[in-house]
Amino acid sequence: MIIDFHTHAVDLRLPDEMDRKPVTLKNLIKRMDEEGIDKAVLMPVNVSPEICQAPLFFSPGSDILSQLEAAANYSDRLILFGNLDPRMGCYGNLTEDQLVNPPVTDFSPFLKRFKDLGCVGIGEIVANMSLDDSRVINMFRQCGEWDMPVLFHCTGPGQGVYGLFDDIGLPRLENLLKSAPDTIIIGHAPGFWSEISDDITPENKFIYPEGPVINEGSLQRLLRTYPNLYADISANSGYTAISRDREYGIKFLTEFQDRILFGTDVCFADKEGKMPHLSYLKNLLGEKLISRDVFTKITCDNALKILKI
Ligand SMILES: [Zn+2]
Repeated sequence: MIIDFHTHAVDLRLPDEMDRKPVTLKNLIKRMDEEGIDKAVLMPVNVSPEICQAPLFFSPGSDILSQLEAAANYSDRLILFGNLDPRMGCYGNLTEDQLVNPPVTDFSPFLKRFKDLGCVGIGEIVANMSLDDSRVINMFRQCGEWDMPVLFHCTGPGQGVYGLFDDIGLPRLENLLKSAPDTIIIGHAPGFWSEISDDITPENKFIYPEGPVINEGSLQRLLRTYPNLYADISANSGYTAISRDREYGIKFLTEFQDRILFGTDVCFADKEGKMPHLSYLKNLLGEKLISRDVFTKITCDNALKILKI
């Protein structure tokens, strides 16, 4: 069985991309059939303003509940995630002692509802906040208490885009991993994958650095140190990281075979939106550069293990 750990089925076009074809549940399933993907983790979006462009905002059925209810019609093919924003939920007036210790959101009403709706994880988190902001730590901890792995988009450093941000060396992610040790935390996106190599600069942390991996980056150190960290190879960021230096990529996939998740993050249903990840892994397997075991763990077994399905 092949599981794509990262999909969405909403209108993710920017206002100047209206000629592109958005992903719908129907064409997502069709693409899975074409590519031999049995199941996909579907992550609803639209809880954080950072990701919300006008096409999505005015798109019918784009609220979280509608996305989940529509996806439930494909329960044989789709694995549902809920989604949250760490800034959600606090209201009321502060008491005097709360000026020093601000109140924290109780996410359990959200998490319980998501569980009732059949969700087995939370993501992807796109709020533009520090990875170790107290509100982020609070939310990730509670997701762990409810046995919900959390997938996040990592950008950084700095504000003004979407995704949780971090500095060079991922010190804030390390803080989060230490602060929420019982939560399965799944990293993704440029701010995460550029850290596969130690030659990173603040400018290339936002993009898809290419070229050989000469010295390992912080990503490998964190994967070796924190058993609750997993890595989602979806999108250009993950694909470039494992393919920029083919020989090193094979070494990386083999060493971290128990922690890597195959995903596509397919955002458009047109030809240009097609993602190369699965054929890349299949080629490595065909050429016996990765073992059948490594392939199966990355494309299926690791997902089953952390989602407990
Ligand atoms: Zn995504």
